[in-house]
Amino acid sequence: MADSLNLPDSKLPHVGTTIFTEMSALAAQFGALNLSQGFPDFDPPEALRQAVVDAMNAGKNQYAPMAGDWDLRSWIAEDTERRTKRDYDVDSEITVGAGASSLLFAAIQAWVHPGDEVIALAPAYDLYQPAVQLAGGSLVVVPLRGADYHLDLEAIASEITASTRMIILNVPNNPTGSGWSYEDFDALHILLANTDILLLSDEVYGPLQHDGRKALSLSSHPALSQRALVAASFGKVLHATGWKIGYLLGPAELMKEVRKVHQYDVFSTGAPLQAGIASFLKSQDGQHHLAALPAFYQSKRDQLLHGLKGSRWNWTPAESGYFQVLDYSGFDDRSDREVVHEWCRKGAENGVALIPLSPFYPNGIPEGHPTHRVRVCFAKNEATLDEGIRRLLLLSNPS
Ligand code: PMP
Ligand code: GLN
Repeated sequence: MADSLNLPDSKLPHVGTTIFTEMSALAAQFGALNLSQGFPDFDPPEALRQAVVDAMNAGKNQYAPMAGDWDLRSWIAEDTERRTKRDYDVDSEITVGAGASSLLFAAIQAWVHPGDEVIALAPAYDLYQPAVQLAGGSLVVVPLRGADYHLDLEAIASEITASTRMIILNVPNNPTGSGWSYEDFDALHILLANTDILLLSDEVYGPLQHDGRKALSLSSHPALSQRALVAASFGKVLHATGWKIGYLLGPAELMKEVRKVHQYDVFSTGAPLQAGIASFLKSQDGQHHLAALPAFYQSKRDQLLHGLKGSRWNWTPAESGYFQVLDYSGFDDRSDREVVHEWCRKGAENGVALIPLSPFYPNGIPEGHPTHRVRVCFAKNEATLDEGIRRLLLLSNPS
């Protein structure tokens, strides 16, 4: 860099590389089995891949509409109506973007003003804090209940002030997989009734429900959905995290402002991917794929937990999503960051990369809340999971 260049202060002085990038890079460096960053080690369905190729060959190679491919938005509207009874307008209330990430980010930039407070519940996904900070707001971190990572409404109530602009929800929660009940939504509705607080609901793991649980969406709550922007991701449900196609739902007056940001940060994204996804989801193959998802992921969670049974690992089975939180306090005292680095360094033969939970607490893990936890991604084929189990057992029982 030129000696004379005087750079201004960083706008994000406390932000480093994400823990997901850090652990995936370490896994590659040491040849460890990568169960850290959340992505499947299997491909999207063949019919879906073919549909994308067909879309390219049919000339869908130029800009998609700013709000998203029309067929895809109309499928999203029908699917959402069927799941939640909420009828979003295809023209003005659904936007497709570069993953859920880009739209969560755009929603925060559009609606958070300098000096605003935004409440997020910890453990919290890492995107929220820097996005709020760039908008000039400040993140107020409210822990989920220590015992089961469920909603702590009293804790939220105690942090609401005249400056609270938005509450960010992440149901099901990454990393813990914990969900909510409809009663929680009702209670939140009562709490917010006389306020203008907006809700940003990150529901990217919503369709991956275990043990017969019903997917809950804020869209299904008629009153709350009036003040809510709801994000979803095709990356998760189609085994295609690298395609980065997601969408946002919300009332037209909220969406209008988000699109002002979206149209300048990415404008539109992946035209043949959007067209291919639409054609796949409208087909029988697509419907079967979605219907089979919960059982598909539950069997992976169960394979992992069955394999660890009787060991010194402890856990509460994940309610949803494709992550399982494991408690290693039964055999190791060290901090989560220390252990994940060391376990990764065991290398190609026995190393395993996991995600520590502490980075999900922007203000540190509060007193009395669980520590010594790591997150395992079980979106892996059977052989990978078997190998992961072997390595995890070795960690808990080294001799
Ligand atoms: N929110 C949460 C909680 C996530 O785990 C992810 C996964 N990356 C995202 C948002 C972003 O999803 P996408 O990959 O569609 O941008
Ligand atoms: N959501 C993914 C996870 O939780 C990570 C995505 C990313 O690397 N930014 O592992």
